[in-house]
Amino acid sequence: MSDPNYDPNNIFAKILRGEAPAHKVYEDEWCLGFMDVMPQTPGHTLVIPKDPTTDVFHADPEILGRTMQAVQKVATAVQAAFAAQGIMLVQLNGKAAGQTVFHLHVHILPRQSGVDMRMHAQDMADPEVLADHASRVRDALGS
Ligand code: AMP
Repeated sequence: MSDPNYDPNNIFAKILRGEAPAHKVYEDEWCLGFMDVMPQTPGHTLVIPKDPTTDVFHADPEILGRTMQAVQKVATAVQAAFAAQGIMLVQLNGKAAGQTVFHLHVHILPRQSGVDMRMHAQDMADPEVLADHASRVRDALGS
């Protein structure tokens, strides 16, 4: 399952090593959750496995299961924190599918009826807003 093409210097690998900042909301033995810096909707959150995994094809099934368990917990908190009418889960594999960071991740997007999403990975959010949103998700997680 290991991926010889995994780039250990991708931004999520740096976040995992503490070499890049992140507005963290969740952590367990296998996964990390943090705010997307270019949110497509308010509360856009990412969950990643700690394993150096490029995409779903290279993921250890056990790790994939742990990741989805973390996604369920974080998505439940995001839904509560943003009073979301719906939650969209998105997971992109490969450049052709729109993947821009080559470390496996699941997007958690709170949605409200009739409100469009912003463009993918386009506009940086205000760090203070992201810090506030992260705090709301952490509160909903009870952590
Ligand atoms: P994808 O295109 O599915 O690979 O998604 C990558 C996501 O990572 C995009 O939504 C970006 O906005 C987001 N992103 C890029 N750099 C960072 C970062 N330093 N911290 C948090 N999210 C990031």
